[in-house]
Amino acid sequence: METTLVLIKPGGVSRNLIGEICRRIEARGLQITGLELIRAKRETVEAHYGEHKGKGFYEDVVNYLLSGPIVALAVSGENAVKAIRAMMGATNPIDATPGTVRGDLALSIEDNLVHSSSDVEAAKFELGLWFPAGPIRS
Ligand code: ADP
Ligand code: MG
Repeated sequence: METTLVLIKPGGVSRNLIGEICRRIEARGLQITGLELIRAKRETVEAHYGEHKGKGFYEDVVNYLLSGPIVALAVSGENAVKAIRAMMGATNPIDATPGTVRGDLALSIEDNLVHSSSDVEAAKFELGLWFPAGPIRS
């Protein structure tokens, strides 16, 4: 049993794709165990994308995540990290296989709709970042 982080980026929220993306996750047999609509803080996004600091697209991707509300999801299930990565598709939607979220619903790398944790260690770090009080608010 694993838990991973999915972010529905501002483009996914503005295009009304929250339901479609959650539907696919649930239909696969994975469980949404945390869900929050967030206007992200810059410090959170900078920590989230810390591995990309210094790269050409870093400022743009940080500003993109700050450009509107996002949805943070904790998703749990067997092999959830790998299953979700595969369902979201390649980073560049042009290379993403049809049937994936990015391959079906996105066209540009700047607006590739979703983030998902790359491995179990990243998932742990990112879940702590986006759900600091745990995945369910009380
Ligand atoms: P992923 O989201 O598939 O894990 P990365 O961790 O490599 O991809 O990159 C993080 C995010 O930064 C991507 O989802 C995308 O929004 C953006 N990004 C990555 N590479 C580029 C690029 N070459 N040009 C523009 N944006 C990029
Ligand atoms: Mg990544």
